[in-house]
Amino acid sequence: MAKTLFSGDEAIARGAWEAGVKVGAAYPGTPSTQILENLAKYPGVYCEWSTNEKVALEVALGAALSGSRAICAMKHVGLNVAADALFSAAYIGVRAGMVIVSADDPGLHSSQNEQDNRFYGLIAKIPVLCPSDSQEAKEFTKLAFEISETFDIPVILRITTRIAHSKGIVILDERQEYARDTYTKDITKTNLLPQFAKGRHYSLEERLKRLKEYSNTISINKIIAGKKSLGIIADGVAYQYAREVFPRASFLKLGMVYPFPDKLAIEFAQDKKKIYVVEETDPFLEILARACGIKAIGKEVLPLVDELNPRIVRNAFLRRKINIEPETELPPRPPALCPGCPHSGLFYLLQKKDLIISGDIGCYTLGTYPPHNAMDSCVCMGASITLAHGINKALKEQKKVVSIIGDSTFFHMGVPGLINAAYNKSKQIIIILDNQTTGMTGHQDHPGTGKTLMGEETLSLKPEDFAKACGVKEVYVIDPYEVKENRTLFSEILKKDKLIVIVSRRACALLAPRKPPHQVLVDKCTGCKMCLRIGCPALMFSENHAVINKNLCVGCEMCLKLCPSEAIIKIEH
Ligand code: SF4
Ligand code: SF4
Repeated sequence: MAKTLFSGDEAIARGAWEAGVKVGAAYPGTPSTQILENLAKYPGVYCEWSTNEKVALEVALGAALSGSRAICAMKHVGLNVAADALFSAAYIGVRAGMVIVSADDPGLHSSQNEQDNRFYGLIAKIPVLCPSDSQEAKEFTKLAFEISETFDIPVILRITTRIAHSKGIVILDERQEYARDTYTKDITKTNLLPQFAKGRHYSLEERLKRLKEYSNTISINKIIAGKKSLGIIADGVAYQYAREVFPRASFLKLGMVYPFPDKLAIEFAQDKKKIYVVEETDPFLEILARACGIKAIGKEVLPLVDELNPRIVRNAFLRRKINIEPETELPPRPPALCPGCPHSGLFYLLQKKDLIISGDIGCYTLGTYPPHNAMDSCVCMGASITLAHGINKALKEQKKVVSIIGDSTFFHMGVPGLINAAYNKSKQIIIILDNQTTGMTGHQDHPGTGKTLMGEETLSLKPEDFAKACGVKEVYVIDPYEVKENRTLFSEILKKDKLIVIVSRRACALLAPRKPPHQVLVDKCTGCKMCLRIGCPALMFSENHAVINKNLCVGCEMCLKLCPSEAIIKIEH
């Protein structure tokens, strides 16, 4: 039997492939991105980067209703974007299995919140599976397809960053091709007109009842016998931590957390002296256990914020003080944009201007930090333009408002904001930072790159064409490396009280070919620090002059163009 080392994301991709999945859709988002990247490498599967998570979920639903097993993957906040479709999908159900992977991010490693998406199971009435390691990630993915078909419902596979990115041994199986009928018309199932939707709601409640019984008997919800003095209910990676801290306790290990296995939990609790619930972020299992009359101890001692680890679990339950400081003191390192990042050329233009700057989600959010100080807010995907519009309507001409959004985020959720801004006469400046990739998640393609996830050539959509199609009269496309010319343009534009769109286009510095590094001629440098305003991490100031770290410098020339003393030159080979 072949074995390999897989991350949770890789294991889910493998599980989906082994289950005979035909269609996969996702919008990249850490920690879920590698699921589709890996699934796309397997034969016999169509995969795509969808423009956003709602689109991805609907693509998967369409495929599942047409008789093909389908999977969609997203980070936790992506499920908020997809929630409209999620709730309807529970009513409609499937024809072939459909799995929705939600990758939650306790600890906010790369997210704006720590929401616990197990609750989506409860409110959308959809079963939720939570694997505890890579092997389970693969097996639960396959099981999720079976549950989906047996109960005519999509299934959420909920993982967290630790499961997504940690590697573990996984046993490989062969792919089982899955064949079902193709599309059949049944408007009472797939058309949620109110008269049909009510019928589907009755059906959903009946399916949920059967799922609850199933949850009480399914093998992934199991009692692991141990000492009767302590029983622990746990799921996901928290189960691993609890096992490490309390190796001799009895466990109720839950793989299917919703519907909650009430009878099994009561049976487990009845002969235990004490019941702990060990889970990350919110008290999901604890609430459901307490609803069954189980006097469980959980979040009164465990933290609601941040990831758990064995140390925190031990400290919490053994009544020791929780030390939330890192065990090893590391020197702080402020996050910074990359050397030669085109966004820094744009942020330079906004410095020291009396502006309200509404930002968005992407690597450019690092423009919040000095010396750029170029972002007042960052709310969620696409909120830059819409928030700026609200500010503009509230403050009118009292203050100039600028919104900043990346290219991938613009296609994801910025377009409706642009349409709204044009329609409702917004007087903001919208800046689209077009680095021709999805930078923050590791350079995935999007509708502007001209390539699909399957590696095919396709059309390349341009944000400026959207702006013109929306009737925006002033649309500029600039090269952010041309810092001097852009400075002149900006001083003109900022005087105007109208909707203006600027597309700042230059490929991500990590993808562009590296040019010879630059150096500072010390005898010419006056120490004016103009070059430092680019905020390039390759540039430093030492004693009374600027210094360039030639190992970091990518030769973008931005600092050279800004130096008034011609003290920066290219190092010629
Ligand atoms: S040329 Fe200047 S701004 Fe560009 S990477 Fe090198 S040091 Fe940084
Ligand atoms: S801009 Fe030129 S003169 Fe001013 S500190 Fe930088 S290298 Fe020196």
